[in-house]
Amino acid sequence: MSHEMRFCPNCATPLQWIASQEDSGMKDRLRCVACHWTHWGNPTPVLAAVVENDRGEALLARNAMWQEGVFGLITGFMEAGESPEQGICREVMEETSLRVKALRILGSWEFLRMNQVLVAYHVRVDGDVKLSPELLEYQWKTPQEARCWPSGTGYALAHWVRSKGVEPQFGAFRPGQSPEPDPVKWPPRPWAEDARFVLPPLF
Ligand SMILES: [Zn+2]
Repeated sequence: MSHEMRFCPNCATPLQWIASQEDSGMKDRLRCVACHWTHWGNPTPVLAAVVENDRGEALLARNAMWQEGVFGLITGFMEAGESPEQGICREVMEETSLRVKALRILGSWEFLRMNQVLVAYHVRVDGDVKLSPELLEYQWKTPQEARCWPSGTGYALAHWVRSKGVEPQFGAFRPGQSPEPDPVKWPPRPWAEDARFVLPPLF
């Protein structure tokens, strides 16, 4: 993360790295010695959508801060007081003017560098695209044309491509980045065979 919490948001005392006993053992965290507030640093939920039109194409958009030729999914932060489903419908409307008429979940992925967790949906929409100032341009891609990339939003797109009976093609998100999907994350495996989630028996 680019910013680190320095002061207690409760009483403004400078935070300190202090080890304390937690369920998982001793844990160093930023804590307040005055009021005992703890900075847990939990990941922030980010919502994403593969937006599909009535021709079966997916919308990819270029963020105003991205270089030419780089396109991604519609994303946004989840807000207090809304469900993830409400949140992604709001984001799609705010960023594209499209109204979501159906949705299903594609999955969730971590984004460690930004301390975020991505929750991705496949949505079908009505209306005409009108981009928010946050987005510069967009394109519609068929499942055959879509190029996926090895990060959460790219794996979400890959799930959509595969749901159309097409084997996803991967490439780098930005020039210079890896084009190769993480073998732990792609291709997806049936849950019963996924060794990541098998815990040793307790007894
Ligand atoms: Zn405090």
